[in-house]
Amino acid sequence: MEIIDGKLTSSIIKDELKEKVEELKKQGKTGSLAVIQVGNDPASSIYVKNKKKACEYIGIGSVSYELSENTTKEKLLDTIDELNNRSDIAGILVQLPLPKHIDEDEVIKAISPKKDVDGFHVENVGALCVGEDGFVSCTPAGVIELLKRYNVEISGKNCVVVGRSNIVGKPMALLMLRENATVTICHSKTKDLKAICKNADILIVAIGKPKFINDEYVKDGAVVIDVGIHRDENNKMCGDVDFDSVKEKVSKITPVPGGVGPMTIAMLMSNCVKAIENM
Ligand code: NDP
Repeated sequence: MEIIDGKLTSSIIKDELKEKVEELKKQGKTGSLAVIQVGNDPASSIYVKNKKKACEYIGIGSVSYELSENTTKEKLLDTIDELNNRSDIAGILVQLPLPKHIDEDEVIKAISPKKDVDGFHVENVGALCVGEDGFVSCTPAGVIELLKRYNVEISGKNCVVVGRSNIVGKPMALLMLRENATVTICHSKTKDLKAICKNADILIVAIGKPKFINDEYVKDGAVVIDVGIHRDENNKMCGDVDFDSVKEKVSKITPVPGGVGPMTIAMLMSNCVKAIENM
């Protein structure tokens, strides 16, 4: 069994991006990431801090907008509009979730697709769907990067994606399809999930349920990618996959922590560099 090390891979990618940013600077190309946070949810604050730290590491600027919990939708949309029009801003990121009184879909649609480094705008999702160039959602993009860097053959393989959210499951399935896998998407209404998962050469799990997938769902020699992030009963981090139960069966697996998680920020940085290149 081989561990797919996302922590190591993400630091390699960030070093590669650092070099690319230096090259771009020599060509006179610079730009910053604007990060907007509404309210002060502690988990969101940590994510925002880590994103700004990653920008600093690869050598790009970041500007943050900390808006109060009761900010109006109009104020947020005005801020986005201003950032869309600023020539020094390459990428715009609105940290989710937003307070309940603000419609997330409307906010995401307000971001210019050319600055949508999260890859959530319908135009970028559509581009992925029809095979055009655009920004791809960071977590699924990180999974593809891990599979490629660990020489996992994707073409012609049976891939099962468990979960169909707009930010993970759906783009994940589209990306695997783009890599010529035979893709099955499962969700909460799927019948006989075990049997379907057991047919997977590559099993990608994003269901948001701690240690849900055990050895009964996994084929011998399968590659298992665990997107989930949770704390277990002992406050230890764990994924959607029961690592100890499946580890003897798999050929390769991502651990939690240190698997898919660190890749998300690396791919966000990759999208920011792409946004600077496109300026
Ligand atoms: P969502 O809650 O938005 O989606 C969960 C999906 O799983 C839904 O499509 C749901 O089906 C499906 N599902 C739920 N229960 C079952 C079940 N019993 N059997 C089959 N399918 C089921 O979650 P996200 O996609 O946002 O996130 C998934 C996990 O990944 C979470 O643990 C989250 O914390 C983590 N995550 C990690 C990231 C990272 O950087 N590593 C980034 C983003 C998320 P239905 O559509 O029918 O309801």
